[in-house]
Amino acid sequence: MDFQAQPEVYDLLILGSGAGSKLLAWTFAGQGQRVAVVERKYVGGACPNIACLPSKNVIHTAQVVQNVRRSEEFGISIDSFHVNMSAVRDRKRRMVQGLIDTHLALYKQSGAELVIAQGKFVGPKILEATLPDGTKRLLTGKDVVIGTGTHAVIENIPGLASAQPSTHVEALELEVVPEHLIVLGGGYVGLELAHAPIWQ
Ligand SMILES: Cc1cc2nc3c(=O)[nH]c(=O)nc-3n(C[C@H](O)[C@H](O)[C@H](O)COP(=O)(O)OP(=O)(O)OC[C@H]3O[C@@H](n4cnc5c(N)ncnc54)[C@H](O)[C@@H]3O)c2cc1C
Repeated sequence: MDFQAQPEVYDLLILGSGAGSKLLAWTFAGQGQRVAVVERKYVGGACPNIACLPSKNVIHTAQVVQNVRRSEEFGISIDSFHVNMSAVRDRKRRMVQGLIDTHLALYKQSGAELVIAQGKFVGPKILEATLPDGTKRLLTGKDVVIGTGTHAVIENIPGLASAQPSTHVEALELEVVPEHLIVLGGGYVGLELAHAPIWQ
């Protein structure tokens, strides 16, 4: 790209569109500031797309499964049932799409610009945004916020990578109920997946 090019100037430039970033963007844009948010993939960040809310979708199904298993206790006979994981996943996908639509409407309403692009800094407060078609934009902000969050990694534990484990991202996209599930790590993400009685 031509680095002699002048960057587009915003009052507030934000890298990453997650929890804090989007609220900043909508608030300041709503007050009349020129705001841009650069997001490579997940409109609204991890929470609505691959984390908090998709995991609650699985847990909600698990709760229904639990109720069905206890149906006799409540005087309801159910001869047999099975969990259709691809339907569970489709329900999640519909929910995620609805959340994305809501986010996009809030961007439009607030006037904040959402730029779907991979961002990297190429100078002080100067961000190069590479759009999906490869074109680049140079952006700068009087204020710049970095909200790039975290992402799952496969730790360097002997044998782990070759076992081809799922991270929470793939686990929340399952098409079938796994016959066995080993959850490695007892943080809140691991506990949330492990305790869902859908697997039991
Ligand atoms: C399974 C699971 C369940 C969870 N449940 C809950 C819950 O119930 N309650 C709760 O409060 N929290 C929960 N969390 C945690 C919550 O998801 C995170 O705390 C939250 O998403 C962090 O927000 P963030 O804005 O810091 O980062 P993120 O949401 O990760 O947003 C960062 C964004 O930056 C983008 N990005 C990164 N680098 C670049 C780049 N170079 N260019 C362009 N874009 C970039 C990413 O694509 C991403 O969209 C859960 C997490 C997981 C994994």
